[in-house]
Amino acid sequence: MSDSKSIILKDETYGAHNYHPLPVVIAEAEGVLVKDPEGREYLDFLSAYSAVNQGHRHPKIIQALKDQADRVTLTSRAFHNDVMGDFLQELCAYTGFEMALPMNTGAEAVETAIKLARRWGVEKRGVENGKQHIIVCGENFHGRTSTIVSFSTDPDARVNYGPYMPGFSIIPYNDTAALEAEITADTVAFLVEPIQGEAGVFVPDEGYLSEVRRICTERNILFIADEVQTGFCRTGMKFAVDHENVRPDVMTLGKALGGGVFPVSAVVADKDIMGVFTPGSHGSTFGGNPLAAAVGRAALAVLDDEELAERSSVLGGKLRDELRKIECPRLELVRGKGLLNAVVFDEEFEAWTACLALRDAGLLAKQTHGNIIRFAPPLVITEDELDKAIAIIKEVFEKIPAK
Ligand SMILES: *Cc1c(COP(=O)(O)O)cnc(C)c1O
Repeated sequence: MSDSKSIILKDETYGAHNYHPLPVVIAEAEGVLVKDPEGREYLDFLSAYSAVNQGHRHPKIIQALKDQADRVTLTSRAFHNDVMGDFLQELCAYTGFEMALPMNTGAEAVETAIKLARRWGVEKRGVENGKQHIIVCGENFHGRTSTIVSFSTDPDARVNYGPYMPGFSIIPYNDTAALEAEITADTVAFLVEPIQGEAGVFVPDEGYLSEVRRICTERNILFIADEVQTGFCRTGMKFAVDHENVRPDVMTLGKALGGGVFPVSAVVADKDIMGVFTPGSHGSTFGGNPLAAAVGRAALAVLDDEELAERSSVLGGKLRDELRKIECPRLELVRGKGLLNAVVFDEEFEAWTACLALRDAGLLAKQTHGNIIRFAPPLVITEDELDKAIAIIKEVFEKIPAK
């Protein structure tokens, strides 16, 4: 078996440099714990950006994957398979929507929602094709396709990828007056993250999502909630919109829908909206494949069976309470909901260095922007493991000198 150093060198030599990972290699994983080739153990406090809510290699999800792999794995949508229907029925029951469209990645789910909104705008609202207008927020993260990066405000994600897709306008997050002012006769949708994850776990003011709901209903535009990162119990409820008891028109889902083992994404909406898709108008070779459907069913079942929303809510509260007690002169703010949290340091702080120190102490986390670190462990974390993590974070942060 190779050592971490030679593995990292190989990645850097043969892999495109479109990421800058923390220098740590994961060779084995179970639950919240991961291990490097040298046998060192770490608590995973990123959860693959919330794709591993159910924990690494959850036995029920792995079993579903193996069982399905022994039966049939891929049919394409040219034929039916005997798993997808059950999966979509259970996903509709879980989310409270009438129909679902399965894709693979989060970015594909967002692309699907954009196409859905544009078609709906023409066919149900009478907007002229080509004029459809969608409003998004600054500091958004919705994925990496050429359309999606066209409305990113992050220069790293966007620079030199023109020509950019027209038809989007960007307003500040957490600003309902800006939303009202931006809507025109051609506006078909508002696409928004109920909590901005990549922006640094930015939680909007209470009442924001209900006000967005009111405005979208009044102006007859679709409220599209991107729950790819915030969904599936991450924030202490099934979905982040549930905190305000709000029902969007469309939700985009991904990440934890694949239970940490397989890319599974979907868009959910009611029939009057989803009905604008007709045969040939959208699709994906792997979308809704039997392996993904079997994994998705198990991933949903685990969330319910193990009451992970409740767990996320209780343990997330404890994590924030304990983080707020840490004495570190450069730590300015602790924020989040459930087990989606961030610690914000002063502007000049090098979070990368702190992440290296956390790694050396046995905890893996990654900075978002230069001065923010996200803490989002798998939701199956035990109280014992959480206590260990808090002790590590405290030890590392209390050693950080003042400026
Ligand atoms: C991760 C993420 C996406 C993109 O998902 P991929 O599977 O990486 O394409 C979209 N929206 C949000 C909110 C995300 O966090």
